[in-house]
Amino acid sequence: ITLFTACSKPAEPTTEPSGEEEVAAPVEEKIRVGLSLPTQREERWVRDKEKMEAVAAEMGVELLVRVSDANLQEQINQVESLLTQGIDVLILAPHDASAVASLVEKAKQEGVPVISYDRLITNSDKVDIYLSFDNVKVGELQGKYITEQVGEGNYIIMSGAPTDNNATLFKQGAMKYIQPLIDAGKIKVIAEQAVENWVPENALKIVEAALAANNNEVDAILAPNDGTAGAAIQALAAQDLAGQVPITGQDAEKTAAKRIVEGTQSMTIFKDTRDLGEAAIGIAVKLAKGENVATNGEVDNGVFDVPSVLLEPHVVTADNIQELLVGSGYITEADLQ
Ligand code: BGC
Repeated sequence: ITLFTACSKPAEPTTEPSGEEEVAAPVEEKIRVGLSLPTQREERWVRDKEKMEAVAAEMGVELLVRVSDANLQEQINQVESLLTQGIDVLILAPHDASAVASLVEKAKQEGVPVISYDRLITNSDKVDIYLSFDNVKVGELQGKYITEQVGEGNYIIMSGAPTDNNATLFKQGAMKYIQPLIDAGKIKVIAEQAVENWVPENALKIVEAALAANNNEVDAILAPNDGTAGAAIQALAAQDLAGQVPITGQDAEKTAAKRIVEGTQSMTIFKDTRDLGEAAIGIAVKLAKGENVATNGEVDNGVFDVPSVLLEPHVVTADNIQELLVGSGYITEADLQ
């Protein structure tokens, strides 16, 4: 089928008819961008969406947003439907890294460039740009932090959803610091498990089981994000251990920021998703116009090195939370109360 994108929208009516006979100026077609997000469960994804909507509105870009609630089939259906609506660019944050490769294939068949957003799409040789944070660095920051706090003892090591390539990168980064201490016999891993679908309830069960099996003797917890950290802290609290076991996080969620101030969570990673969202729309416009996009890295997706734009993650602790999170306006003073 041929899609007539140029005729897909009616011209907007002029608000004030001049009364004079004028030749209508050609109406410039709005760039139409499809956005497929995996979830709104974590606060960050809500912010990504809001920022992209705001920037799109400012730039006069029409943004068609779909959220698939951590469901692969739903994401496939939504993206297929977006592709029938004459989008010029697709921004896709995959629920399942490799399973959406077929969607990239379909998009490209229709001449629609694809931005892999936050999470890398693997198993595809046709992704145009990967826009994310330096995710190995995220893991390195977590691993460095926790091993500096606890150089020996019993560790619970959790990683994110196996279907999310970020989870692999985070763990890879963290293990650069943890593995040498395991090899040296200093760290004993009492539980090492992936949190299916990033569901906090699953993290809760992992930590509860590890505490029970080890007589509560846990010295450190690597939690991949704030959602899983919150669940782990709940399990610790049930044993009166909250605040006594160093634990990592990621996302700078409001509840995590509060826990950092209270002392039950040790750190989080701040990824400014306002910058990510803004960059996404900017890149989408460039791709729609066939312009070059400046990249600052490449990330291997198993098939090729995907040209990438990677933003910097930052460690947040009680010491710099005011400056990094409140000072930047990411959260407010009231959020910390
Ligand atoms: C994101 C994290 C998020 C997690 C769960 C990851 O891909 O990078 O920021 O916490 O997914 O949604």
